[in-house]
Amino acid sequence: MARRKKNMHSTTIEGKQLRPESLMMTYGYKPEWSEGAIKSPIFQTSTFAFKSAEEGKAFFELAYGLREAEPNEKIGMIYSRLNNPDLEILEDRLTLWDKSDGAAVFASGMAAIATTFFTFLKPGSIIIHSEPVYGGTDYLLKHILPEFGIKSYGFPAGKTGIAALEKLFKKESVAANTAMVFIETPANPTNSLVDIEAVADVIALHKTKKRQILLAVDNTYLGPLWQHPLKHRADLVLYSATKYIGGHSDVIAGVCLGSNPLMTQVKIYRTIMGTMADPWTGWLLLRSMETLKLRMTAEMEAARYVADFLAKHPKVERVYYLGHLTKDDSQYDVYKRQCLAPGGMIAFDIVGGEAEAFRFLNNLSLFRLAVSLGGTESLAEHPASMTHSDVDPKERQKMNITDKMIRLSIGVEHHEDLIADLKHAFSAV
Ligand SMILES: *Cc1c(COP(=O)(O)O)cnc(C)c1O
Repeated sequence: MARRKKNMHSTTIEGKQLRPESLMMTYGYKPEWSEGAIKSPIFQTSTFAFKSAEEGKAFFELAYGLREAEPNEKIGMIYSRLNNPDLEILEDRLTLWDKSDGAAVFASGMAAIATTFFTFLKPGSIIIHSEPVYGGTDYLLKHILPEFGIKSYGFPAGKTGIAALEKLFKKESVAANTAMVFIETPANPTNSLVDIEAVADVIALHKTKKRQILLAVDNTYLGPLWQHPLKHRADLVLYSATKYIGGHSDVIAGVCLGSNPLMTQVKIYRTIMGTMADPWTGWLLLRSMETLKLRMTAEMEAARYVADFLAKHPKVERVYYLGHLTKDDSQYDVYKRQCLAPGGMIAFDIVGGEAEAFRFLNNLSLFRLAVSLGGTESLAEHPASMTHSDVDPKERQKMNITDKMIRLSIGVEHHEDLIADLKHAFSAV
C-alpha cells in the first residue's frame, strides 16, 4: 500500500461535486495498492515496515506533532494503535458525510466520547450537557469525570433548554471554567431536540481568544444522513458507529469528527489510551458504509408508516416522532432548520403502564426485544426498565420516560409486516 495522500482522491467529475453515497465504494482506496483487489484487504497487522530509517523518523515526527506536515504529507503507517489502512480509508469516507476535515475511529461509541472528553477537559474544567443523554455518557459525566476534578451541569433538551443553558452560564464560576458543551439531539428516547445553533450562540458570548468552549454533538440518532452538526457551528461530532453506521448489529465502534487541529489532539489521546478500533472492525464498517444511505432511507420511510399507524391506534396515548411535529410546536422550527428527515426512531406511550407495555413487548415476533438501535432489524425495548433504568426516577418522570413508554428502532423490513406485528401485539394487551 502506497503512502496515501488526500489529494489522490478526486471527489469531482468535470468540476461537479460527487455525493457521499457515490464515493463510499472508491474514495480513499486504489486497487493498485493491493494487487488490483477491488476491495481493500483487511490489514491484519500490528506493525508496518519502514523503507528506511529516515522514513521512520519522518512518520514519527508527524505522528507525535514534532513538526508541521509538508503540503500533502500524511503520516505513514507506523503501528496499528496509531493508524492502520482500514481505519484511514474509513476515516476518509466518514469525513464526506459531515464535511469535516478529519475523523478518528474508536473501539466503541463510549471510547470515542470518553477519549474526546479526556482530550479537552482538565481538572477544574466544567462540562455542560443536555439531558437526557445516553446511559454510558450519563455515568461518565456524573460518576467518573468528577473523580478527575471535572464537574458537569445538565440542561434539558426540548423547549426550555436554551433558557436553562443561559441561566447556567450566568454563574461566574461556570462561565469562567466551562471547556465544553455536549449535546445529544434528538434525545434518546423522547426525540426532544436541542437547537445546535442557539447553543453555539450562547457559547459565542462566553468564549474568549484564550479560553475555548467546544461544542460537541452526539449525532448517533440522525446521522450521518439526516443531521450535520458541523454545518450548525458544532466543533465536534460523535457517533456510536455500533448503530446506523455499522447498521447490522454485529459490530461495536465509535467515531469523532472535527477540524484538523482538534482531531490531531484527539488522535494523540486515542494513541496513548489505546481506544482505537481494530482493522477487522474498520473493514466491516467500510462494508457497512456502502449501504448507509440505502439502509437509513428505507428505515426512515418505513418509520413514517409505523408512526402514523401508532398515532391512530386506540391503545396508544402519545407518539414521540419527529415527523409528527406541527407548525405550532416551538420544536418545529428547530427540526426544519437542523434535521433533513425524521429518521427511524420512534417512542410511544401505551395506554396503561408497565404491565401493558410488557405484555405488548412479549407478544412481538418480527420486532426483536433488545436494546441498541440503527440495525437492519427492527427492535423494541422498554426505556424505564432497560436503557434508562439507572436514571433517577424523578428525573426520568420529568423527561417523560415513564413505565408506559416503548421505544422502537425501525429496520429495513416491509412496513406492512412491521405494522402487522404491532397490531398483533396490541391485540394481546
Ligand atoms: C449506543 C450509544 C452510545 C454508546 O455507543 P457504544 O458503541 O455502545 O459504546 C452513545 N451515544 C448514543 C446516542 C448511543 O445510542
